[in-house]
Order: sequence, then structure tokens, then C-alpha cells
Amino acid sequence: KNDIYKYQSEVTKKIESDLKFVLIAKSKLISQQLSFYPFVKNLIINPSYTPSQKQIDSFVSKNPELIEFSIVNSSGKEIFKYSNGKIIKKNSLFRNVTTENYFVDALKNGEFIGVIYDVDKLTHNIVTARKVNFENDFGVVFAKFDTKKEIQGYAKKLFNKENKKIFIIDPYGYILDHYDNSKINLNIANVNKNFIDIIERLKAESERFQGKSITQYSPKENSIPFAYYNEDQEKIQATARILKPLSLAVVFEENYFQAWKPWWSILIFSLAGISLFIIVSLLLVRNIFNSIYYLDELKRKSKQVELILYNLVDGVILYDDKFVLKFINPEACRILGVKEEEVIGKQIKTDVIKENKKLESLVKVLYPLFAEGFKRIPKSNNEKKGVKSIELSIDYPQKRDLYITTVPIKTDKNKIEFIKVIRDVSREKNISKTKSEFISIAAHQLRTPLSAIKWIFKMLLDGDAGSLTDEQKEFVRKGYESNERIINLVNDMLNVARIEEGRFGYEFYYVNLIDLIEKAIKGFMLKAEEKNIQLVFKKPKFNLDPIKIDPSRVSLVLENLIDNALKYTNRGGKIEVSLKKAGDFVEVCVKDNGVGISNEDKEKIFSKFFRGSKVVKMQTEGTGLGLFITRNIVLRHGGQIWFESEEGKGTEFHFTLPIDEKLIPKS
Ligand code: ADP
Repeated sequence: KNDIYKYQSEVTKKIESDLKFVLIAKSKLISQQLSFYPFVKNLIINPSYTPSQKQIDSFVSKNPELIEFSIVNSSGKEIFKYSNGKIIKKNSLFRNVTTENYFVDALKNGEFIGVIYDVDKLTHNIVTARKVNFENDFGVVFAKFDTKKEIQGYAKKLFNKENKKIFIIDPYGYILDHYDNSKINLNIANVNKNFIDIIERLKAESERFQGKSITQYSPKENSIPFAYYNEDQEKIQATARILKPLSLAVVFEENYFQAWKPWWSILIFSLAGISLFIIVSLLLVRNIFNSIYYLDELKRKSKQVELILYNLVDGVILYDDKFVLKFINPEACRILGVKEEEVIGKQIKTDVIKENKKLESLVKVLYPLFAEGFKRIPKSNNEKKGVKSIELSIDYPQKRDLYITTVPIKTDKNKIEFIKVIRDVSREKNISKTKSEFISIAAHQLRTPLSAIKWIFKMLLDGDAGSLTDEQKEFVRKGYESNERIINLVNDMLNVARIEEGRFGYEFYYVNLIDLIEKAIKGFMLKAEEKNIQLVFKKPKFNLDPIKIDPSRVSLVLENLIDNALKYTNRGGKIEVSLKKAGDFVEVCVKDNGVGISNEDKEKIFSKFFRGSKVVKMQTEGTGLGLFITRNIVLRHGGQIWFESEEGKGTEFHFTLPIDEKLIPKS
């Protein structure tokens, strides 16, 4: 603000000294010229002398701004006067100026320059007086000229040269000079009420300086800054300066926004800075609150998770890649016979058992590869990557069977930690064992009477007990067939029980698979003919060396698949068995154009006792155990089994067997 005011004040100050210089210079010039004119000397030396009109005219024509000039003799009496283009008659001159300021000053200093303004005539003039010496006498020349005429044009020039807008007013408020010529001679008080106050002050100051010498006066700090709307409703920042000795005021105008531009920039920057500061502070505060909230939430959540894990019915342990135990829940402690405080935060290495025998089971769980009798559980399809499940038995603190799932978790620092979920499956295993033992005992017990019945029916059919009528034969045959079905069921159940107990008893030999397939197909030829189904073997063109398999089990697989194809294909259908090599494996395919498998049944097809919903109605024969046994046999050989089927169109079952015996799993 100070800078803006100071700048405007400086401009007006410069104008003040400019104007003063112009007016003083002009005054001096006029009075000097006048004093050198010969008629002045003549008038002073010889009181009866009268200058000619011609002489006067030649002087006035060189100084057109002159309003009045007169000559006073040494006693202060006016001896000549020229006013407004006329020479005043001698007998009208009676003025004595001995007490006048300008006369006294001129005598004292040789020169006087002052301002005279006349309210009645509304004039503002510069008055100059100069003492002129001649031989033994002297006089004073006195001249008065119009300020307006001398100043006019200055504002316009300044505007053109420096683009500064100024105007000059006299003590009556009249515009003496203006950067806009059309405004000259207007009264500013009529145009703009804001100036009334300034005019008042100018008038008061001017009265004090009326008739006083302006040469001695040096300008003082007396500028007045003010803002207003001009006639065009433009906002103006102005500074007025009362030019005290000249009894004039100069006004310097600038567009308000232009003048305050540096301030606006500062303001805008400050506001932007403050806003930014506020925004940043608010964000910071919000973030702090959020952080506090999330920290609380996090604490709550982690407490919650800890509580859940703590009370879980399964054992849970968490450890890092260096086997440092980070968490263990009470159930894991119970199962493994350890105390939380003994193990938490400790690195568990295999040799800790030497010092603490009680950690045996924990070590087994952490390093199952070193433990005896651990069993990998094949991956199911929906299991996540890296998740592994095993079965393991421990002896301490008591004999238990465990099902352990290991889940690797990536922590934020790109480190890996592991969670082990330990389930005590001893009870389930026991129940399942008891169940299969029961089934296998029952099945065994059933087998002896069933084979007795079989032979009795056989003997009856063969006529060993005398010949039977056709009707009797038919009854016996039905009895024989039903008995056969029970024998099949009992055999299947026995197989399942053996599979589950892990004593299905495999014996591997080198066998020619093509021969085995041909033999299996032969066994079903009669049945196929009966049902008018075409059963063909697309024998491969290549030579297949004998591969190591359990022939009786693989025969069971082939029989199950062909039997199913026959069962679930309508009369007049076709069954194709084929074989091909697929990498290290041979792949056998049994393809039919039968009823197919519905989409909802597809998932359950290999489960125990599962039979397709439609199939149950169509073919009463069947146990739902065939494919369960088949799949187990194939997996035991290190192969895979799968199928493709479309309801109403047919089914293709594929299974593979390894050519290389190294691919057969050990157990
Ligand atoms: P079972 O044949 O004794 O019912 P399986 O375990 O052999 O038992 O087969 C299970 C089920 O799979 C069958 O009940 C049947 O719904 C379906 N299935 C098996 N093979 C075929 C096939 N070739 N065509 C249509 N469905 C089949």
C-alpha cells in the first residue's frame, strides 16, 4: 500500500517541480525582456516621456500571454501601465505600491515571483516584479501573465510520452489542464463530488500564499491519496497534490486494479498459499483421524482373528521361513503336547529333540519329509496354489492321526510365512477303519454261503439232481442270476473295504496290454450280441511292449468300463475300445453312443455308491462302486482317468497307464 501511495506521490512531486520550473523560467524571461526595452529606461529617467503604441505592440506581440505590465519609479509610483491590450492614460495612474509585497521583495532581492488569483474574475495569474537600475536612478517593472496559457498542453504531453494521466485544477475547481483536452475549463466539482474536499483545502492553502514569493518555497510532503469512481464508473486510485506556492493542485489518476496489481498478485499468492495450507492441514488432520480409526480397527480385527484362531477346534501354527514360531493356538498345543511359552518366538530345528523330547511331534509336523509314514494327499482342483495337505501319525503325547494343511502366505516385506492347520483325524480314521473292518468281515462271511448257493443252483441247472421242467428251470435260472448279482456286490464291497484299508494287494507283472483288452472284450461279446450292440476293438497298428501292471486289477478296470458302456447304451448301439500312446503313457478309451451323463451327475460319478439319477430307473442292476474301484486302481498305477459325455449322445471314458515302471508310485 505504501509503495502504491509513494509511487503516485513521487509522480505528483515531479510534476510540481516541473511546473514550478516552467512558470519561474517564463516569469524571469518576461521580466528580463521587459527591463531591457528602451522605453522602460526613458520612462524612469524622464517623467514626461510617453512611449509610442508601436513600441508597446512590438513587445506584447512577442509575449502574447501577458495580461498586464506596469513600470513603477523609485518612489513607488506607477508611471506606466498596460492592461488587457490597452495603454492606461497617464492621468488615470494613481497607484502607489511602496507597501506591496512584490515591490518590497523586488527592492530587497532584485526580483519577485508570486501567484495572484482573483475570485471575482476567476483568474489565476503569475506576477513578476524586477528592479531595474539606470545610472543614478532605478525602477521596478511589473508583469502579470495567465498561468493557464503557459501550462496548457503539459498533461497531454505527459500522457503521450509516459502514459500518465494527470490534470491540474485551480482554487475554484476549474480544470486548467487535462490529459483529455475536452475536459479543460470544466469545473471538477460539478463532474465529480469527490473533489469538493480537495478544492476546499486548495483554496485555503492558496489564500495563505496569495501574493507571496514562490521562489523561496520548497515542496513538502503533502499528497492526498484517494480512490473513487469516475464519470465512466471506472474505479480510480488517485493522488492529489496541492502545489502550495503555485496555488494549484495536480491529480494523478490510475486504474484502480492496475494500480493495485502488485497487491492483487501478493493477495492471490497469499490466499492460494493459505488455502493450500488449510487444505493440506485438513488432509493431514483427516489422515491422522483415519489412521487412528484404522489403527483401532486393525487392532480390533487382529484381536478378532487371534481370538478366532485361539478358539478354533483345529490346531493352528504360524511360522516364518526360518522356522521361527510366531503363533500357536491351544488346540495345536494340546495335539502336539507342547506349551505355548516353550516354543513361541523360537526357531525350531530338527535337532531340538535332543534337548527336549517333548517337541518331537512339533518337529514332525514342521518337517514331515523326515517323518516316517507321512502321506501326501492328492491335490483337489479347487485348492489354491501352494497349499499342500498331508496325513501324518504321531506318537507323542499319544498316538494320533493328523491331517495337516500347509498354506504359504506372502507378507508385505516379500517374505514368506506359513500357516499349518492341524486336524486330529484319529477318531474319524478309527470309525472308518471299524466300518470297513465290519464290511469286510460281513462280506467274507457272506461269500461262503453265497458260493454254496451258486453251486447248488448250478447243479440244479446242469440236471445233476434229475431233469427239471422248463418252468422249474426258469425259476432256478432267475435264482442263479440274482445270486450272481449279490456275489458281485459283495466282491465290490470287499474291494472297496480293502482299498480303504490300504490292503488291496497289488501284484505287478509285465503284461501285453493289447492281449488283456482283447480278452476283456471277448468276455462281453455274448452279452453285447444279446443286446444287439456292436462291440469293437480298434486294434492299434503299432507294437506295444509289455508294460508293468497288475493284470487282474487292470482287467477289472476294463470290465467295469465295458460293462457300464453296455449297461448304459440302448439296443442297436455301438461301443468302441481303442488304445494310443500319449507321451510316457498309454491311453485307453472306451466310447459308447449311449444315454450319456447329465451335467449335475458329472461331479459325483467317481464317488462311492453313486448312481446316476436316470440310470437308476433304467437299469436296476449296479452298485455304484464300479467307478470308485476303477479310479483307485488307475491312480495306484500312476495313471489318470477322466471322461467326456453329453446326455443322450454318449460317453467316452479315458484312462492312462505309465509305460515306464518308474512312474508307478511306491505305495
Ligand atoms: P454302477 O454302474 O454300478 O451304477 P459305477 O460306479 O460303475 O456304478 O457308475 C456310476 C454311475 O456312472 C452309473 O450309475 C451311471 O449313472 C454312470 N455311468 C458310468 N458309466 C456310464 C456310461 N458309459 N454311460 C452313462 N453313464 C455311465
